[in-house]
Order: sequence, then C-alpha cells, then structure tokens
Amino acid sequence: MAKLIVSDLKDLKGKKVLIRVDFNVPIKDGVIGDDNRMVAALPTINYVLEQGGKAILFSHLGRIKTEEDKKSLSLRPVAEHLAELLNKPVTFVPATRGAQLEEAIAKMEDGDVLVVENTRFEDLDGKKESKNDPELGKYWASLGDVYINDAFGTAHRAHASNVGIASNMQQAAAGFLLEKEIKFLGEAVDNPAHPFVAILGGAKVSDKIGVITHLLDKADKIIVGGGMTYTFYAAKGIKIGNSLVETDKIELAKELLEKAGDKLVLPVDNVCAKEFSNDVPNKVFEGDIADGYMALDIGPKSVALFKETLADAKTVVWNGPMGVFEMSNYAKGTLEIGEFLGTLSDATTIVGGGDSTAAVKKLGVSDKLTHISTGGGASLEYLEGKELPGIAAVSDK
Ligand code: AMP
Repeated sequence: MAKLIVSDLKDLKGKKVLIRVDFNVPIKDGVIGDDNRMVAALPTINYVLEQGGKAILFSHLGRIKTEEDKKSLSLRPVAEHLAELLNKPVTFVPATRGAQLEEAIAKMEDGDVLVVENTRFEDLDGKKESKNDPELGKYWASLGDVYINDAFGTAHRAHASNVGIASNMQQAAAGFLLEKEIKFLGEAVDNPAHPFVAILGGAKVSDKIGVITHLLDKADKIIVGGGMTYTFYAAKGIKIGNSLVETDKIELAKELLEKAGDKLVLPVDNVCAKEFSNDVPNKVFEGDIADGYMALDIGPKSVALFKETLADAKTVVWNGPMGVFEMSNYAKGTLEIGEFLGTLSDATTIVGGGDSTAAVKKLGVSDKLTHISTGGGASLEYLEGKELPGIAAVSDK
C-alpha cells in the first residue's frame, strides 16, 4: 500500500512538526566534512516551513558509549551549518528531554526551526534511543502534532526516534528523501525494466548472501566483484593464493553458483600482489592465482566483460567496490565500472550507499546516475527484500 508522503500533509500552519532527519555527517574538530545528507533533507524541511509549520528536527550522530563521546558528537555544529544552508536562524537545544527543550518548543513561531541534541545521548542511559525505549518514543511524540520520517540511513533499525515516535502519533509521513529512496529501490526490486543487472562487490559474501539470494529471482545478471569473488572461486576449484576467503561459506557459494547458472558473472582476471599494500609490485593473473599472491582488484578483461554485461541494461543496482579501491593501484576496477555506469543514459542506475557511493563521487559521475542512496545498510536490507521498520512505521495513505 502506498505510504503517506509529506506532500499529502496540507494543513501544517501552526503545527509542531517532528522531523527525523539523517544528519549523521562526518565532523572533525567541529568542522563538517560531507554535508550531502543535510542537503538531501532540505526539501522536506523547506516544505514544512513553507506550509507554516514549526520544524523540530531529530537526528543521531555517531555512537555514544561514554560521557566523553558527548563532547565530540554534539549536533551543535550541525545546527549551525543548517542555519547557513537554510539561510535563516536555527535554534539548537543541547538536551534530548526536559524543561529546556519543552520551553524552547513552546516559544517557536510558525516557520521556525529547532534542532534537538543528538538522539543517541539517550543511549548512555540503557540504550533508550537504540533499543526503542517505549517511554522515550512516547515522550518525544508528545512534543509535536505531526511526524515525518526522512532518515533512510536508519530506516532498517527500530529506534525511539523513528519507530518509537511514529507509533505514538496519529499521522506519520515519509519525507521527500525517504519517498525517493522507496521509489527507486522499490521499483528496481519489484518492477525493474529489463535487462536488470545487479553489481555486488565488497569484502564478504556473508554480508551479501541475502541480496544475492533475493535478486537471483529478479535480476537477469548478477555481477560479482571485490573480496567476495574468491570464495566463489574456491567453490569453483579455481586457485586463490592468499586472497580473501570465507571458508565456511564455500559450500553456500557452490549452491548459489548451481542455482544461478550463468546469471552470476565472475571476474576472469585479477590484479594481485604478494602483500596487502599499495607499495609492492602487482601482477594480473587470468583464472588461477599463484601461491603467495592475493587478488586486490579485478583485471582489465573482467572490466571489459562487466561492461559488456552492462551495456544493454535498463536497470542497474550497484553495491560494493570491485577491489581495494582505497589504494590507488587497486581502484581501477571500481572506478572504471563507476565511469561506465555514468555513460548508460538509457538505464536507471542506482548506487546503494557506502563505498560505491564514495567511488562515484570521487569520479564526479554521481549527477549522471539516477539515484545515489543515502543509506548503505538500509539499502542492502531493502535489496534483500526485507521490510524496513522505519518505513513500515510510516502511515499508509
Ligand atoms: P563492504 O563494506 O562489504 O562493501 O566492503 C568494502 C571493503 O571491501 C573495502 O574496504 C575494500 O577495500 C574491501 N575489498 C574489496 N575488494 C577486496 C579484495 N579483493 N580483498 C580484500 N578486500 C577487498
């Protein structure tokens, strides 16, 4: 059933609108690195303000395990940066509950913006935010009239600031960012234009089993790259030298290969080195990898094969790098695939967060792709076909 969207909420004048955003941005010495997530939340915040609502924003930032963590993980610099992005004053409340917060909310005028302190400050007291403490969700819900969830990055978790608040409100709507994520990932998984090709990389097969299994029935091809390749190699009896392998997953890899037939497309050559280092010589091996070598990137023939597999795709979903892209000598496979996706103008191209997002940004091709997800873990769970609690808690239309 279709979900209630923020644009369905017409009468926000004078309403206190609680918005869960994902402002979990990198901060070093009080300076924000990449503010993409904040920029992505602006349409929802601006809509609420234009409708005359009072925007009360909740977000987590990092993980709070000790009292000390609070010093470097306050949302104050984020609130200050938001004021610049919105070009208007933003009130920051250095508390997650109590009189100071309630009084600041009571003073708000229509069109005002307030940022509540990092929701995970509540985790110091029995993980109240992360374990969705029922009293906390109810309390936060009592501070507003309407709730909007626009935090896709945490939608795969049931926390007090998403599921907790939503389940205590009469109306919980999806923000524009959440709507966009549901639209693109949902369409790719449930109703893709064919050929539908998934590209899965990254370190471990165990992290991607759910996605591979779910997409085997839906995708026309699944390209596998990155560290998880070599568990599949081991399953096929190809020599892997010292490459990354999950020995307890070799049997499963065999089963997946059998089930997939020629749907799974594996690299045919690999860039290998004797050490996990950018400063040692490397060598390309086709097929078997010699003893003493480990595969750290896909080779040129694999890049060509993958491009050929992708050439006529109408839907592409990509999650995980093709090699150890953090080291320049092993970044080529990931970068070339990212660049090629940017040329597929007839296809819906979706990047599922995390390292693959970093790769397309580095290449400057992100604006040539259809959708870059803001959630790594959340997009993976979506691709596994799981119901995300943060989305399930949004009201139906
Ligand atoms: P993931 O978080 O599962 O997407 O994995 C990303 C990580 O996998 C990156 O840090 C890569 O360096 C790493 N990775 C990719 N390919 C390989 C490889 N061939 N050997 C070791 N690690 C790899």
